[in-house]
Amino acid sequence: MSYQKPKGTQDILPGVSEKWQYVEEKARRLFEKYEFHELRTPIFEHYEVVSRAGDTTDIVTKEMYDFYDKGNRHVALRPEGTAPVVRAFVEHKLFGNDFVKPYKVYYQGPMFRYERPQAGRLRQFHQMGVEVFGSNNPATDVECIAMALNYFRDLNVKHLKLVINSLGDQQSRQAYRQALINYLEPLSDQLSQDSRRRLHDNPLRVLDSKEEEDKAIVKNAPSILDYLNEESRHHFEQVKAMLDALNIDYQIDKNMVRGLDYYNHTIFEIMSDAPGFGAITTVCAGGRYNGLVEELSGPATPGFGFAMGVERVLLTLEAENIAIPVKDYLDVYIVNIGQETNIEALKLVETVRYQGFTADRDYMGRKPKAQFKTANKLKAQLVLTLGADELTKQVVTVKNMTTGEQKEFSLAAVYQDFASIAKEMLEIGE
Ligand code: ATP
Ligand code: MG
Repeated sequence: MSYQKPKGTQDILPGVSEKWQYVEEKARRLFEKYEFHELRTPIFEHYEVVSRAGDTTDIVTKEMYDFYDKGNRHVALRPEGTAPVVRAFVEHKLFGNDFVKPYKVYYQGPMFRYERPQAGRLRQFHQMGVEVFGSNNPATDVECIAMALNYFRDLNVKHLKLVINSLGDQQSRQAYRQALINYLEPLSDQLSQDSRRRLHDNPLRVLDSKEEEDKAIVKNAPSILDYLNEESRHHFEQVKAMLDALNIDYQIDKNMVRGLDYYNHTIFEIMSDAPGFGAITTVCAGGRYNGLVEELSGPATPGFGFAMGVERVLLTLEAENIAIPVKDYLDVYIVNIGQETNIEALKLVETVRYQGFTADRDYMGRKPKAQFKTANKLKAQLVLTLGADELTKQVVTVKNMTTGEQKEFSLAAVYQDFASIAKEMLEIGE
């Protein structure tokens, strides 16, 4: 019996995992520059935290990995990061006076959705995201968007577009909802089955439909932007003015809604428009969610956040042929010849590592030639050779693999200060 990974999952092997570490590390560094700190939540949550009553989105109704555990608790693998972070925010009273406001956190990790797998769409995928709690200032919206764009700029990604929209506040949504129902109702026979069902309980979802028949109808639907009340309109105007102040280009998509129901006011997506990127182009998405903390039993607290998909970030880099710098050499390889050198080789490799170098050795008692071949394959900068003769004389030969020059050093000197020896031997090559 041989097994394969579950559908929609990936093994990230050495050679590729370095790329993941690189993009994740870049995100951490950037988020920390903006004074965000990491918050890690469990990978599974109570079903109610991630589903929330009344949410009619695909994520909640169709894509959830939920099950009953052995204690008959209804749990779900988290499909996204925001609701779990909000749950933690409320549970640990992070809204309290001991904490700086706005309270800013980031997360990185796997998310799970039962989707139809394709390029850039997996069942276990990985997000890097941020959440800001406590600020209603449109500057928060714009700084988060700017941070996301800066991330791609740091990575040298060029082909991106920013798309924004506003969903307004509760009152604006209510007014718009009725206008949308009035528009969709006479066309309901032409809608997909899902959209027809959602028409009355959540007509905004129709706008997010991926079905062709729905898309055609949605194109001429009334725009939420015409139904924003004074306050919502003002917020959106401020967001636009602030984007302009930072010279950030954007498009407005008046029909854009997001894949989760908790959003209001500003929403945005960053898409790749690199040639050949493929059909799925959104690499980062987010927005404002002013009611969510209350919905999860916390005090009324505005929120703003976004998430980017690591898999899609990597696809963006690929589409633009951006090479990721990875350290692909080894500082030291230890060639050891003969069984009698085994213990000394062990001491050597451990000492060299302890002194701060990357190092490896042979374990299979292979011929020197084969060991040197491995050293070359690992791109070792220096090779230390230890044979029976060297052992008797208590020395080791150090070879600069770039220039071929070599020199003998006492084992005592290596143990005492390998850094000086390495420096001397590497300088020979310059
Ligand atoms: P889509 O419209 O592509 O389904 P979404 O609206 O469901 O996206 P969000 O819930 O906003 O996506 O998630 C934010 C980001 O997470 C997306 O922009 C994308 O980069 C990534 N993402 C979402 N779902 C998946 C998935 N199944 N596989 C890989 N990445 C994903
Ligand atoms: Mg989705």
